[in-house]
Amino acid sequence: MNAHSHNIPENRRPIRQLDDAAANRIAAGEVVERPASAIKELVENALDAGATRIDIAYADGGKTLLRVTDDGHGIPAEELPLALSRHATSKIDGSDLLNIHSFGFRGEALPSLGAVGRLTITSRFAGAPEAARITVHGGETGAVEPAALTRGTVVELRDLFHATPARLKFLRTDRAEAGAIADVVKRLAMAEPHVGFTLRDISGGGEGKVKFRADPETGDMFDALQGRLRTILGPDFTTNAMRIDAEREGYRLTGYAALPTYSRGAAVAQFFFVNGRPVRDKLLIGALRGAYSDFLSRDRHAAVALFVSCDPELVDVNVHPAKAEVRFREPGLARGLVVSALKHALAEAGHRASTTVSDATLGAMRPQMPGAPVYQMDRASQPTLQRAYEFQQPAPDQQGFAEFATPSARFEEAPDTDAIDLPLGAARAQLHENYIVAQTRDGMILVDAHAAHERLNYEKLKSQMADNGVAAQALLIPEIVEMSADDISRLLAAAPDLAHLGLTIEAFGGNAICVRETPAILGEVNATDMIRDIADELADLGQSQTVKDRIEAILSRVACHGSIRTGRRMSAPEMNALLREMEATPYSGQCNHGRPTYVELKMSDIERLFGRS
Ligand code: ADP
Ligand code: MG
Repeated sequence: MNAHSHNIPENRRPIRQLDDAAANRIAAGEVVERPASAIKELVENALDAGATRIDIAYADGGKTLLRVTDDGHGIPAEELPLALSRHATSKIDGSDLLNIHSFGFRGEALPSLGAVGRLTITSRFAGAPEAARITVHGGETGAVEPAALTRGTVVELRDLFHATPARLKFLRTDRAEAGAIADVVKRLAMAEPHVGFTLRDISGGGEGKVKFRADPETGDMFDALQGRLRTILGPDFTTNAMRIDAEREGYRLTGYAALPTYSRGAAVAQFFFVNGRPVRDKLLIGALRGAYSDFLSRDRHAAVALFVSCDPELVDVNVHPAKAEVRFREPGLARGLVVSALKHALAEAGHRASTTVSDATLGAMRPQMPGAPVYQMDRASQPTLQRAYEFQQPAPDQQGFAEFATPSARFEEAPDTDAIDLPLGAARAQLHENYIVAQTRDGMILVDAHAAHERLNYEKLKSQMADNGVAAQALLIPEIVEMSADDISRLLAAAPDLAHLGLTIEAFGGNAICVRETPAILGEVNATDMIRDIADELADLGQSQTVKDRIEAILSRVACHGSIRTGRRMSAPEMNALLREMEATPYSGQCNHGRPTYVELKMSDIERLFGRS
């Protein structure tokens, strides 16, 4: 008896080749998921054809009508039937899939669209005496007919998925589909700032409602991109953005990245392009997160438009049917380039704060413009001021501490005319037991003392960490903290790293952790709160981050615990010392969570506020 015979399904058919219509429908499943993916293919075709203006129109979220009109080079009438047949393309000859310079190359989009809707292509090939048209409906291609069109190509897709109600059911509301279309168009518009785009909703007939419009930008790559980003992301983005231009072993990174203080509550303003192609790539998103991890809490997201370019041989774009993902030949190199370029730019931005808060609230606050000098005061020249405001507890290096330990007349003795010329000026007052008001030569500064101190602590912890580990200070009475088994095992696994951060913990019974030492630099802290915070951080981080990223994330948590809490009054020397240290510390313009630590108001702004100028 044949043991396997009963495994043959009764309805098994012999193997045979699927016909074109079926093959196209299958391909369409991958290529055309929703109206927005059809729009992506059509706009990419227009760009490949060298269009300088592209008009996109849709009705009912794209479900009943999609139309893309371009002024590109067009398609010769005799090639129209070929454009609709599978794997037919004018863009590659198939000999080298690792050397692709166009958006398209698979020759699948038009036949796929023809399989899932009623598709009409009207085109006039450059120099041809007249235009021609072809229609495909339910896989049936019609004859090529003469048509009226002065130049370029119009592709119209009606009743997408009407023949496949199952797929139609998966589409979302008209509004959601229209949103997805706008998203696709904006991404492509960023990739091609020299091309003009309009997006219209023609549901109501006629010219319709303009949903998005971007006129062609002029100038070099950076100017054009900046103009386009202003149109798409708004002027707040461009005012707060750093220009990025870096290169490493064949990979180049260009574009704009916003200061951490201009961050978003979701990853809605992260745009990546690889060789001009919009992608959603995990590697790049991860690199971005890594680069900003010092500056943003995990619920904030950096805003960027970044372009990786390289020899087409260094990246494979043929790993995804809709080409949304890519594979780098040297993933480590690509990631390293993104992380280092962004970190470098963030360092150069120094203590420049974002203008967003001020724009939103006061309207007149002036941004410190990119390119403003980054003040790096000689720390050695300020030895007595370094730690003066950390008076809550004796610090490891106490020289100079006593000098300002209590508010004293020394403040009056030392004329502050010099301080006035410093970037953050001379402290004049403290408001609401937190905010420091300082006077500068040409304006005033308002400092969030708590946020600033948190940042300084963090930077200090980091530099101690880099030297030889953070000095620890033993608790008089070790603190016992009860926790879940998961938290305990995560903490114990991290114990050697934590010890290096000045935090000594050990197991205590089955359900608690014993904290023996805390970082000396922070003085007296609530060890229970701190350890619970770190446990949360470890749980959130998972294994996704590198050891260095994890340590920095923990440090940032630790730093919060030693900071001046709102509600503590500072003496004048303490305030001035804080200002001076901010000037001397890189990244002091924003706290660990990406909020600004200070804002600046120039005299001219103040005068404007009062209508004096
Ligand atoms: P691919 O873009 O991968 O080549 P498509 O199915 O999207 O495949 O298009 C098939 C061919 O039709 C293209 O290679 C191109 O020659 C031509 N074509 C499509 N759209 C346009 C257009 N808007 N302007 C000029 N030619 C086009
Ligand atoms: Mg194409």
